Amino acid sequence: MPKPSIKPVGIDLGTTFSVIAHLDAAGRPVTIMNAEGDAITPSVLFFDGDLVIVGKEAVKAAIHEPQHSVAFMKREMGSSVFSRLVNGKKVPPEVLQSYVLKKLKADAELKLGQIKPAVITVPAFFDDPRRKGTLDAGKIAGLDVLNVINEPTAAAIAFGVQEGFLNEKGESKRTERVLVYDLGGGTFDVTLMEIDGKSYRALATDGDVYLGGTDWDHRIVDFAAEAFMKKHGGKDPRKDPSALTRWLHEAEDVKRALSAREATNYTCDFNDKKLRVPISRAQFEELTADLLERTRFTTSSLISEAGFGWDKITRLLLVGGSTRMPMVQQMLKEVTGRTPDRSLSADEAVAHGAAIYAGLLMATGQGQAPTVTVRNVNSHTLGVLGIEKQTGRPCNQIVIQKNTPLPVTKVSRFQTAKTGQRSVVANIIEGGDSSGGNATQIGKCVIQDLPANLPAGTPVDVAFSYSDDGRLTVKAKLPNQGKMAVLVVERASGLSEQQVKKWGDVVAKPSGPLELNED
Ligand code: ADP
Ligand code: MG
Repeated sequence: MPKPSIKPVGIDLGTTFSVIAHLDAAGRPVTIMNAEGDAITPSVLFFDGDLVIVGKEAVKAAIHEPQHSVAFMKREMGSSVFSRLVNGKKVPPEVLQSYVLKKLKADAELKLGQIKPAVITVPAFFDDPRRKGTLDAGKIAGLDVLNVINEPTAAAIAFGVQEGFLNEKGESKRTERVLVYDLGGGTFDVTLMEIDGKSYRALATDGDVYLGGTDWDHRIVDFAAEAFMKKHGGKDPRKDPSALTRWLHEAEDVKRALSAREATNYTCDFNDKKLRVPISRAQFEELTADLLERTRFTTSSLISEAGFGWDKITRLLLVGGSTRMPMVQQMLKEVTGRTPDRSLSADEAVAHGAAIYAGLLMATGQGQAPTVTVRNVNSHTLGVLGIEKQTGRPCNQIVIQKNTPLPVTKVSRFQTAKTGQRSVVANIIEGGDSSGGNATQIGKCVIQDLPANLPAGTPVDVAFSYSDDGRLTVKAKLPNQGKMAVLVVERASGLSEQQVKKWGDVVAKPSGPLELNED
């Protein structure tokens, strides 16, 4: 057996593909191949009775039995249970994510020996419940998660170190303003970052949790399905889950082919009828023009909101498998007037950056001076949902504005409504409009055990603190009483420590049997 290792790993826990990397003896990041010999592992699960299969084999099995397969768990992080029953049971998304982590860990352990410390990446626009969910997924998988880091920050570190605009400690020689455009399988993420020596500052970030390569695949399926029905009539193949899975698979192949070639054929069958449709790159680009436009719009708005012109941006980094589509590179060249940097593998940059960051964190933990400092911004407004006195309408009282540099603490003053009130409840929300529509419920803050006989209107100060990694804590005190009030944060979603432990035991079972009895 290899020696137990305290070498940390970096993990890109992706919507569609996940990657694990470590630092070699020379301190360079290296991807660790999975048991199948691949650098990237599909984030797909297949439940074969009691067995949980992860990765390529799960993708294959899903074609025949889509009802037993689970994918896109990352999109549901932060919800209390996955949108669909899994083997007839309710399962939290972080538990499903932990199976992916467990596979990456187990496969990497075949090469490296025991793996514990890890940095896991999250999209910059992940809010607090989703970050907490990611940390919990790591714990359930048996990892000791040093921290989460934003995917664009990780990518910038990897590119920077590789290309020498950062040294091996991650420090820049001059001020760099880096735009990271990340188009993956299920999400789009764009971040503007400033790297000045050791300091990393995210200046602004935006994205779309529901836009990625799979939307491009769906457009090809729509195109083929319409051609199929025109020729053969009858039922829509997209209505059949097994056919849809198969057709999407073929669409992804066609899409990849069109990144390399000008034209190819889509071959499909349904109910014993076959079709072969030619499709050109130009046609594909036309079918998906609006999707690409959405990313262009988000990118341009981000730059103008940050108050910069393109001339102030020093690097343009492309991350995510979908940036291999020539249309993406062309569009960015047109908008920015510069040639995007694709020197690093689009799939591996994020995991490599996470491994470098993990190494830096471990070194700091062992007494070396901290190297890089990573400053993020919060990607959503943080507010308290209240009722407007005059109108009685719900009202989102924003406490921390979007894109505020972290860490940040803001104190907001509230007051008791009634004489003799013994507790105060604040509903904390992220994002949303002025009346709290479309917001994410973070949790309820309950200040209990207030002294008896307080007059109505007694001030209550609530302090919201975002740490560097985007985690949120809430504290409250009664300023005039000179003492802290007891504060209970009830999360609207997420697992308790006890549940994390319980699920950890379930997931740790050697063959990974899924015994999903609820509490
Ligand atoms: P995520 O981070 O969301 O898990 P990745 O960055 O691994 O995703 O990107 C996966 C997406 O990239 C998939 O939709 C896949 O089809 C797409 N992709 C990978 N290679 C190519 C290619 N050569 N041409 C077009 N799309 C590609
Ligand atoms: Mg990704």
